[in-house]
Amino acid sequence: MRSVGHFIGGKEVKGTSGRTADIFEPMTGDVQAKVALASRAELRAAVENAKAAQPAWAATNPQRRARVMMKFVELVQRDYDQLAELLAREHGKTVPDAKGDIQRGLEVAEFACGIPHLMKGEYTEGAGPGIDIYSMRQPLGVVAGITPFNFPAMIPMWKFAPAIACGNAFILKPSERDPGVPMRLAELMIEAGLPAGILNVVNGDKEAVDAILEDPDIMAIGFVGSSPIAQYIYERAAAHGKRCQCFGGAKNHAIIMPDADLDQAVDALIGAGYGSAGERCMAVSVAVPVGKTTADRLMEKLIPRVESLKIGTSIDPSADFGPLVTREAVEKVKGYIDIGIKEGATLAVDGRGFKMQGYENGFYLGGSLFDNVTKDMRIYKEEIFGPVLSVVRAKDYAEALALPSEHDYGNGVAIFTRDGDAARDFAAKVNVGMVGINVPIPVPIAYYTFGGWKKSGFGDLNQHGPDSIRFYTKTKTVTSRWPSGVKEGAEFSIPLMK
Ligand code: NAD
Repeated sequence: MRSVGHFIGGKEVKGTSGRTADIFEPMTGDVQAKVALASRAELRAAVENAKAAQPAWAATNPQRRARVMMKFVELVQRDYDQLAELLAREHGKTVPDAKGDIQRGLEVAEFACGIPHLMKGEYTEGAGPGIDIYSMRQPLGVVAGITPFNFPAMIPMWKFAPAIACGNAFILKPSERDPGVPMRLAELMIEAGLPAGILNVVNGDKEAVDAILEDPDIMAIGFVGSSPIAQYIYERAAAHGKRCQCFGGAKNHAIIMPDADLDQAVDALIGAGYGSAGERCMAVSVAVPVGKTTADRLMEKLIPRVESLKIGTSIDPSADFGPLVTREAVEKVKGYIDIGIKEGATLAVDGRGFKMQGYENGFYLGGSLFDNVTKDMRIYKEEIFGPVLSVVRAKDYAEALALPSEHDYGNGVAIFTRDGDAARDFAAKVNVGMVGINVPIPVPIAYYTFGGWKKSGFGDLNQHGPDSIRFYTKTKTVTSRWPSGVKEGAEFSIPLMK
């Protein structure tokens, strides 16, 4: 059986803790590999390695660092098909969707190729008599990323590409459920010319995460995962004096106004609600039709579409979506469907009974659709993270606007309308971090920033785009005066730029 170790000092090394976790192949339900779970000592060894390598990398001029990133982009494109298949077989999502996972990460590596420009500081000549001021951005040193199972290529690249381009060394702790692609990405960075020790992959669970949180040489942590863990990481990292940004779970609403193009909205809801079996932090999990007529017409169109979703293996090119990541994930989602029924929601389509012929042990679930969900229900308040769409009927626009605004989560939201005025008002007022107007999954492009609000994001800077350069650097500001500018004696009050 394949075994996955760690990637430390520029090569894969075996785990020594004696602890491992199973990596499943969700489409068959088989265990396909074992991944090593790092001990504190293994994490520490990776940090020491990174710390030793980092100063020389920081001293490498930014154009050379950018060239490594350019080569990495080329190598990922070369290996695109193999990476996508490996990803699909470990995660469960379909191969075309796995390609999207890789592509949206690679776009951030492309963004990081602009590092010579992105890291430029500021300069003011003559800020006072004979005084010039300038600022510079310097890397933090060793930084870490802790990432979730659902985007095993994209989110690691969102983290390590800008961090490394800035001159940091990076410790990646990917999800233990699908570590294969992160390990391959580290190999490709070495092939692209990255010095050994600058990108390390330490596989593991809570033990490795706690070691990262307490390590005195890790200066910053970028986390993505569920909200309770995001909050835990945020609090513990702060307690240890680390810079930290933590992105959590979601409950993304799509508002369907009476004037919306209903066919376009239904297409959007089906793709965004059920793509990747609903295991996306930007999946639409709540549809909010405005007015009874809109709601009735929407349900009439949605039901047959959900009933005819094509569930297939991860390597079936015609499948709409594949299996979920684990059997526990399937049981958890089924549990929420039971809860929804008990809470009084109308289960319009029930995906619980779905069986995949020839793959009876795989982690499959059909698409489910709830109508008449209300805001006091657990299936509305909590993240289900599966192929389940809940319809909450709103009587008017004000009620529809209030639903996502008052929800605990605030990752993404969308409005479907032909009315520019309503769309503009919605974008201005909704209390959510990322907004789509007739766009169901408004994941900002790499040179903008990604981040949710409320329980979906802890910390003040977003991922990728200009915020990522700020997050992975510290600013130093220099005020200088040369002897020819020194005219007066000692000053005892606070200096003013007179
Ligand atoms: P998770 O919180 O279970 O795990 C995320 C990471 O934390 C993993 O690396 C895992 O090993 C580690 N971890 C898990 N339990 C831990 C514990 N008790 N102590 C310390 N570390 C622990 O999340 P997941 O199931 O891998 O991913 C799905 C979640 O991620 C969903 O909630 C989804 O909405 C969220 N997500 C958010 C975004 C975003 O940008 N906001 C993006 C993708 C996924």
